[in-house]
Amino acid sequence: MSDRYAVVGNPIAHSLSAQIHTAFAEQTGEDLIYSKLLAPLDGFADSVRTFFSEGGCGLNVTVPFKLEARDLADELTDRAAIAGAVNTLMCRKDGRLLGDNTDGAGLVVDIRDNLDWPIGNKRVLLLGAGGAARGALLPLLAEQPAHLHVANRTAAKAEQLADEFSHYGALSAGGLEGLCGSFDLVINASSASLENELPPLPEHLFTAGGKAYDMMYTAGPTPFVHWAHVLGVEASDGLGMLVGQAAESFFLWRGVRPQIAPVMARLRQELNNNKN
Ligand code: NDP
Repeated sequence: MSDRYAVVGNPIAHSLSAQIHTAFAEQTGEDLIYSKLLAPLDGFADSVRTFFSEGGCGLNVTVPFKLEARDLADELTDRAAIAGAVNTLMCRKDGRLLGDNTDGAGLVVDIRDNLDWPIGNKRVLLLGAGGAARGALLPLLAEQPAHLHVANRTAAKAEQLADEFSHYGALSAGGLEGLCGSFDLVINASSASLENELPPLPEHLFTAGGKAYDMMYTAGPTPFVHWAHVLGVEASDGLGMLVGQAAESFFLWRGVRPQIAPVMARLRQELNNNKN
C-alpha cells in the first residue's frame, strides 16, 4: 500500500500542496498518496491523531494551525523551535511526532537558487512581523546579509522580533512610517497583498539593481510586485517559496530532493489558465 501524506488546514480547498507533492512523487518515483484534510477549527489535535493512528506518514500544516502543530509535536527541529511554528509533521518509527518548519528554507532556496538573487552581504528589508516573517528570520540571517531590517505596521512587534533574533545576526527594527535607507532586497512578509493592499512605502527604498519579493502569490502581479515593476525594480511573487517549502518537507519525509523548477512552471501555467 502507498504511504499516505496530507495537508491539514481550515479552509483547505484552495491549497495547492496536493498538486505539488503528487508532481514531486511522479518526478522522483516515490510511491505515495497525498490528500487534503479539513480539520474542524476546534478539532485539529483529534484530526492529526486519527490521521497518524490510521497509518499516515506525514502532514503539512497550514492556516490556522501552525502554532497548535508546534504544541502537538513531541519534538521540534531547531528551526521549528526558533520559528515557534510548525508547517510539517512526520511520524517517527516509534510513533513520536517530529515538527519542522520549512517555510523559511523554501523562501531562501527560491530567492538564492531559483531567482539567483544573492542574500549574503546584501542589505535586506523584511516587511511584516507575523508568522511568515518569524519563520524567515533565521534562514535569512544564516545567509549572512550585510544587514537585516524588520519593518512592521505595528513597530513594537518588529522590535520584539529583532530582540529575540538579535544574537543570530545584525538586526534592526522599526515601523513602516519613517522607514528610510535603501536595500538590495525587500521581502514583503506582510499580509497586505492578501487584502489587495500595498504597505505605505517610500519610493527610494531600493539600491540600483535592488530586488523585490512578495511571499504572496496570485495569477497576476500582487500589489507589491506591481509597485516594484512600476519603479523599474525586478520582482517576484512567492509561488517559488510555496514549492520550495514543499520540497523541503518532501526531503524530510522521503530523503529525496525533488526538482522545483518544473513543478513551479506547471503551477504558474495552471494559475494563469484559471485566471483566464
Ligand atoms: P500574519 O497574520 O501572521 O501576519 C501579518 C503581518 O502583515 C503582520 O505583521 C501585520 O502587521 C502585517 N499587515 C497586515 N495587513 C497589512 C497592511 N495592510 N499593511 C501593512 N502591514 C500589514 O500572516 P503570515 O505572516 O502568516 O503571512 C504573511 C504573508 O505571507 C501572507 O500574504 C501569506 O499568504 C504569505 N505566506 C506565503 C507563504 C508561501 O509559501 N509563499 C508561506 C507563508 C505565508 P501588524 O502586526 O501591524 O498587524
